[in-house]
Amino acid sequence: MRKKVIAGNWKMHNLVSESLALVRALKPLVADVKEVEIVVCPVYTSLYAVASELGGSNIKLGAQDCFWEEKGAFTGEVSAWMLKDVGAEFVIIGHSERRQYFCETDEWVNKKVKSAIRAGLTPIVCVGEKLEEREANRTFEVVRAQLDNGLGDLSPEEAGRIIIAYEPVWAIGTGRTATPQQAQEVHAFIRGWFREKFGDSLADALRIQYGGSVKPDNARDLLSQEDIDGALVGGASLKADAFAEIVKSAL
Ligand code: PEP
Repeated sequence: MRKKVIAGNWKMHNLVSESLALVRALKPLVADVKEVEIVVCPVYTSLYAVASELGGSNIKLGAQDCFWEEKGAFTGEVSAWMLKDVGAEFVIIGHSERRQYFCETDEWVNKKVKSAIRAGLTPIVCVGEKLEEREANRTFEVVRAQLDNGLGDLSPEEAGRIIIAYEPVWAIGTGRTATPQQAQEVHAFIRGWFREKFGDSLADALRIQYGGSVKPDNARDLLSQEDIDGALVGGASLKADAFAEIVKSAL
């Protein structure tokens, strides 16, 4: 039985005071939830403060990206070890906004995933097709290439440490959600890729989140699909009550 994981990607939102207000509002709303893993991913500048606020709660901390070197002359970058140091347990890697605006490649994703695992973080690795790729019936081909190039050379130990987020790019921040059936068939495809490469027990244990305009009113239908093991939530994670409702839809 896979424990569902609901993660909030706050993107580039919230000053420290706003981040603190958001987790203070969220904590009591989900305090009694034990069966779902809950993660929030603030901007770098709020991580330390949010980590202190989350102490002793059932909400875990994640970051939105990391660099693959541990330290050095890489101005502006933050390593996985530094994220671990401030209390993060998760890190989103290969989000479509990073691929789109910062030219992130599968090769970079590969290096970042390995470094995150070495640092002791759980990478949430994002894959997903663009609208024109879906319309050209290339969804599986695109997702397979992202998996092959981003994760193809992981050891079974490394592969067993990651979470996948299937995020169709056309559904992110657009209000347009994949239907539960559209999402399910790609999730099953992703699990099949892991089965072929790493065997049954790893594939059966792998958690695959759906992401793309998940809201309180569509979360339950998505989360009830056989291969959907959670959600990566953008916009709706910025409101404590909406995010808490999504968490509870996973129960
Ligand atoms: C995301 O940022 O990963 C995301 C899915 O955003 P939204 O929920 O706003 O579509």
